[in-house]
Amino acid sequence: MANTSYPASYYAASANPAPSRPALQAEVETDVCVIGAGYTGLSSALFLLENGFKVTVLEAAKVGFGASGRNGGQIVNSYSRDIDVIERSVGPQQAQLLGNMAFEGGRIIRERVAKYQIQCDLKDGGVFAALTAKQMGHLEAQKRLWERFGHTQLELLDQRRIREVVACDGYVGGMLDMSGGHIHPLNLALGEAAAVESLGGTIYEQSPAVRIERGASPVVYTPQGKVRAKFIIVAGNAYLGNLVPELAAKSMPCGTQVIATEPLGDELAHSLLPQDYCVEDCNYLLDYYRLTGDKRLIFGGGVVYGARDPANIEAIIRPKMLKAFAQLKNVKIDYAWTGNFLLTLSRLPQVGRLGDNIYYSQGCSGHGVTYTHLAGKVLAEALRGQAERFDAFADLPHYPFPGGQLLRTPFAAMGAWYYGLRDKLGF
Ligand SMILES: Cc1cc2nc3c(=O)[nH]c(=O)nc-3n(C[C@H](O)[C@H](O)[C@H](O)COP(=O)(O)OP(=O)(O)OC[C@H]3O[C@@H](n4cnc5c(N)ncnc54)[C@H](O)[C@@H]3O)c2cc1C
Repeated sequence: MANTSYPASYYAASANPAPSRPALQAEVETDVCVIGAGYTGLSSALFLLENGFKVTVLEAAKVGFGASGRNGGQIVNSYSRDIDVIERSVGPQQAQLLGNMAFEGGRIIRERVAKYQIQCDLKDGGVFAALTAKQMGHLEAQKRLWERFGHTQLELLDQRRIREVVACDGYVGGMLDMSGGHIHPLNLALGEAAAVESLGGTIYEQSPAVRIERGASPVVYTPQGKVRAKFIIVAGNAYLGNLVPELAAKSMPCGTQVIATEPLGDELAHSLLPQDYCVEDCNYLLDYYRLTGDKRLIFGGGVVYGARDPANIEAIIRPKMLKAFAQLKNVKIDYAWTGNFLLTLSRLPQVGRLGDNIYYSQGCSGHGVTYTHLAGKVLAEALRGQAERFDAFADLPHYPFPGGQLLRTPFAAMGAWYYGLRDKLGF
């Protein structure tokens, strides 16, 4: 991995103090070797440690270096594709299991924050904002759907009500989810890493897994050391590269960009988002935003297929922010950064097992803050021999992107262009 420092993000600049962890320079033995210290890896490690496993985490860069330390910080329930789509694709029984789990990730985050006293500016309340009557109709259907799975903290907002929670005239209505919310994502990851260590887990930074020797007792190699384990969990997501070639074919790293304004002051911040909820709109290529603990606006949007780093992020994102909040036209942008998430063709997570002892979860396709926390629990259950919930994910069908590794980027960009056009035309 070329650059292993945190990007120049607001999160890195406001991170809670954390130790610099050493690189692995020895041969160690463990029960579970976790590759990647993002939410998937850290959540897995925590659940395993709480259940008596010995755990070693290898991180190529630093804790939260990937999407987990860069994201919009929005706690969004369910998956990037909703349960009705899953139901049509895999049938009612599997959909029921997945639907029952769709709101668990947010609860896990709140439990972690409370149990390990993680300081990460946790706030309750997330809004889905509809730009068209058709999108509002989808939200109404989504509310009915989620209520079928016992998720009841939802309120539909008409045009007058949404104007009371977000000072943007572009929305025809929305839905408020009080079990959604937002966090400082890097501080959540750093707090979880500290929790892992408090339970006796070991995290090595600057320690990329460069090779996995498979077999009954698999070995993970880093440049200066190796870990022999009973199990391996692969949690490198969009930053994994080609370490596990089987996984690369059915997923594609994509970049998305975020900016943070200068602190707005209490009055202006309150005028934009009076209840401090986070907001995402209902477009396919969606915009999302929220306030930080120190009253900046964090605004994200747009996708770069194939995860190239765009040259001028502010020039891409600021106009979107001003479209939502023209009142910010004289406000300075203090930070702009990019990060990669992993897209699958179905937009559902890619979960499974290679042989008997290598487990993976990746590809939650944009909405991953809650899912990754659930994934850690489900992977830990599977390692303990309770695989029913793991199998519900592992049985989801996945297909390679059309065009293979060479052409998948232009093909996916064409698809996004089409959906982006539909968003613009209000279809
Ligand atoms: C800019 C951005 C905004 C987003 N906003 C939101 C949002 O608001 N809400 C939401 O729900 N989702 C959001 N997402 C998605 C969400 O952040 C991710 O789905 C989630 O964080 C993925 O977590 P992860 O642990 O699977 O992967 P990551 O956090 O990417 O972690 C993977 C880790 O593995 C390490 N690694 C990779 N390869 C190796 C190796 N060979 N050896 C050792 N370590 C390795 C990497 O360095 C990295 O630290 C956003 C994503 C981005 C990029």
